[in-house]
Amino acid sequence: MEKIVALNVKCPHCGKSLMDPYHRIHEKPSILLDIEAKKGEGKIRLCAFYGCYTHESSIKLEDKEIVRLFCPHCHEELISENKCEECGAPMLPLTLQRGGRVYICSRVGCTKHFLSFENISEALTRMYNEFGYF
Ligand SMILES: [Zn+2]
Ligand SMILES: [Zn+2]
Ligand SMILES: [Zn+2]
Repeated sequence: MEKIVALNVKCPHCGKSLMDPYHRIHEKPSILLDIEAKKGEGKIRLCAFYGCYTHESSIKLEDKEIVRLFCPHCHEELISENKCEECGAPMLPLTLQRGGRVYICSRVGCTKHFLSFENISEALTRMYNEFGYF
């Protein structure tokens, strides 16, 4: 049975969907965000599969640099107080459509990420609803 799950995320600020059905990565709608890095500002698309780090950026990213991500709708920054356990960079939150959040590390090349739910007893139900299987 396939274990890989595709995320369906929205902005933690304005609640609008961050999925871009017109630009697919690994055959799934990609996650579209605005990005600010050393080389300037642009757009970044992330693969929606949890645990997959494939991305396409309109600007060149330097290895190990910390980037800032913004919602393309309300332009608020995606930022949390959580720090990456691996490298200390800020962890950036994306809200799952059916509740809970996924956090990704803001450092280029760091693969740390995790899921969080306010209520752990609801987590399995939510995961099931979000992904259909688990
Ligand atoms: Zn927003
Ligand atoms: Zn992928
Ligand atoms: Zn990290």
